[in-house]
Amino acid sequence: MKALERGIVVSTNSLTVWKVLQNEIINCEKCPRLVSFRKEVAREKRKQFRDFNYWGRPVPSNGPLDARLVIIGLAPAAHGGNRTGRMFTGDGSAKFLFLHLYTAGFVNQPISDNIDDGQKLIDCYITAAAHCVPPDNKLKPREVENCSQFLAREFDMLENPKAILALGKVAFDSVIHFARCRYEINGRFEFHHGKKYKIAKNFPTIFASYHPSPRNTQTGKLTSKMFLKVLRDVRKLL
Ligand code: SF4
Repeated sequence: MKALERGIVVSTNSLTVWKVLQNEIINCEKCPRLVSFRKEVAREKRKQFRDFNYWGRPVPSNGPLDARLVIIGLAPAAHGGNRTGRMFTGDGSAKFLFLHLYTAGFVNQPISDNIDDGQKLIDCYITAAAHCVPPDNKLKPREVENCSQFLAREFDMLENPKAILALGKVAFDSVIHFARCRYEINGRFEFHHGKKYKIAKNFPTIFASYHPSPRNTQTGKLTSKMFLKVLRDVRKLL
């Protein structure tokens, strides 16, 4: 699979097991609604990308397995990850996210355009609550539940996670749900941009941020200043 062979950087430890998992993700058809939607988007394409060979499958995760920062997004974008085959690549969210990750030193370049662009994540691993694009960017609870098995298995492979940056409420809730399955955790945890949560002794600190989608960044709901503050807080913890 091209998305696993190029543009994806992982440490050598556990690489084989990680690749097996990512191949499983790429071939997953557990959510019928998402399977049909990701193919439909890839078939119909956006006019400006009509010559592009869309990925149109579940998008694998990306980054070194010894990363201390784990970023969890919502799901691939229809004409971003679902087109290019890499998380946060080739769309408006990617532009905002990578400009700021670069400023904070978590990637080698400020752009994320395509799988051959030379991107290397630094101490940072990117995954999502769901690996398939949902219609209207809205996942059904069942779909998040289905994909959470992959998140749990990925976490077992990560060697040194210290901080989780949850981008948006769905990602935040999926992390809390995952943590509750593993640890004795009491209390309710609500999504608030800029807050951090230490919910269990052996679980990474969770940082919450609004999702860097154009809907948020172009309306001022999420500004550069706000996002850099979160990244600075993460850096301080690391
Ligand atoms: S969202 Fe996850 S569980 Fe559902 S089909 Fe895609 S990869 Fe499979």
